[in-house]
Amino acid sequence: MTAETEDDAFAAIRAHPGGVLQSELWKELGVDSRKCSRLVKKLLDEGRIERIEYRKEGIKTYVLRAAKTPPEPNLLLAGAELIPCVACELECKVEECPLLMDWMYQLAIEEFTE
Ligand code: SF4
Repeated sequence: MTAETEDDAFAAIRAHPGGVLQSELWKELGVDSRKCSRLVKKLLDEGRIERIEYRKEGIKTYVLRAAKTPPEPNLLLAGAELIPCVACELECKVEECPLLMDWMYQLAIEEFTE
């Protein structure tokens, strides 16, 4: 892989949910470390990633992670119905939850009727 844009770099960073070392990222992207630094700086300036200082064998590098963003409010709604998981206090078994199944059914109806 050769990263041409910051979007390519962002996709590579996001593929590592626990973060990726900047000193490893440029190798993964197939670019030199200077180009990687420029791509990382753009992503930091745009607020799309966060950078945490990290020392590996005494050498300073950084862990890069995709920034957490709040979900879009409309993704939590099926029509006017808010997803039941918000403020839910039940013992969660997602795959068996009738509340979630009802909400997803409502979502499917809303999408079908649009
Ligand atoms: S899936 Fe069901 S039990 Fe789990 S958090 Fe959502 S509403 Fe609550």
